Amino acid sequence: MMAESMNPTLRGTLLLNEPMARHTSWRVGGPADRCYKPADLADLTQFLQQLPANEQVVFVGLGSNLLVRDGGVRGTVILTSGALQQLQLEADGRVRAEAGVACNKVARFCIRHGLVNAEFLAGIPGTLGGALAMNAGAFGGETWNVVESVETLDRHGTRRTRSKAEFVIAYRHVEIPAGEWFVAAHLRLPAGDALAAEARMKALLAKRNATQPTQTANAGSTFRNPLGDYAARLIDASGLKGYCIGGACVSDKHANFVVNTGSATAAEIEMLIAHLASTVKRVHGVELIQEVHVIGEAGK
Ligand SMILES: Cc1cc2nc3c(=O)[nH]c(=O)nc-3n(C[C@H](O)[C@H](O)[C@H](O)COP(=O)(O)OP(=O)(O)OC[C@H]3O[C@@H](n4cnc5c(N)ncnc54)[C@H](O)[C@@H]3O)c2cc1C
Repeated sequence: MMAESMNPTLRGTLLLNEPMARHTSWRVGGPADRCYKPADLADLTQFLQQLPANEQVVFVGLGSNLLVRDGGVRGTVILTSGALQQLQLEADGRVRAEAGVACNKVARFCIRHGLVNAEFLAGIPGTLGGALAMNAGAFGGETWNVVESVETLDRHGTRRTRSKAEFVIAYRHVEIPAGEWFVAAHLRLPAGDALAAEARMKALLAKRNATQPTQTANAGSTFRNPLGDYAARLIDASGLKGYCIGGACVSDKHANFVVNTGSATAAEIEMLIAHLASTVKRVHGVELIQEVHVIGEAGK
């Protein structure tokens, strides 16, 4: 257990007993014992160096792929969004973006510098760190397709630069060395027609708004798409569109989205997700794999 008072040389913000509902797009989740929002990367490095060895640590970006259970998180949550915000064009033409930068901002930055193929990031409502952890993708684009190397930080505050070749990368999945987190990425993108890229980005955003419940509290796709099929189609064909458990409902607009209609608990969302998986298995014989990550303790 960590002392509740902070080392005075640290410059970030320590929040005690912080409701994780404030940090997730589902707007649910009990309190984290401690949340730390670092002032910058050097500050985060120092924070990790002084943490007791037994302290549990979890990184959270914009919480747009994350279900935090109602009992909250024991240990320390590192909040990268609004921190780790550096974004720059390097002398060798690569883009260096820190983990807390919003994907949307990275997409627009690339276009502004005449670099193309990162347009798909514009519609992903997370941080670049979350996109690296999830290998987030949309409309044919995937995060790791544009990554050349990443910077990581480990439990002891050791920073490393790792090339893409060091990671096993799959659809919405990346194996990250235990006790290491992403703090920045170096993106390599070809130069291209910025106006055409901007038009492409706008078209992708319009398509997303037309097909997804973007104005609601949700966490995007609940399940990965099985090979050659769509999780949304399987859920819809199981008669589950609009199905609710408490305040958690399957979206009428996109059946792979679970929406908190206002009063849902994390337990209701988790129960609904389990119900979708078991019904699809029973009706279609397909084992859906969950895309959203679940952390924390059940409520009492
Ligand atoms: C409306 C909507 C639409 C969406 N559309 C898409 C889509 O088209 N494609 C898609 O792929 N996803 C989509 N998502 C899901 C989500 O936005 C992505 O998975 C996104 O990459 C998550 O980023 P985040 O910063 O919110 O991560 P979080 O939800 O905060 O974290 C997700 C996981 O990554 C880990 N993590 C976060 N930051 C780091 C870090 N710096 N280092 C190591 N691990 C870290 C967390 O511990 C957690 O396990 C959508 C979500 C919503 C709400």
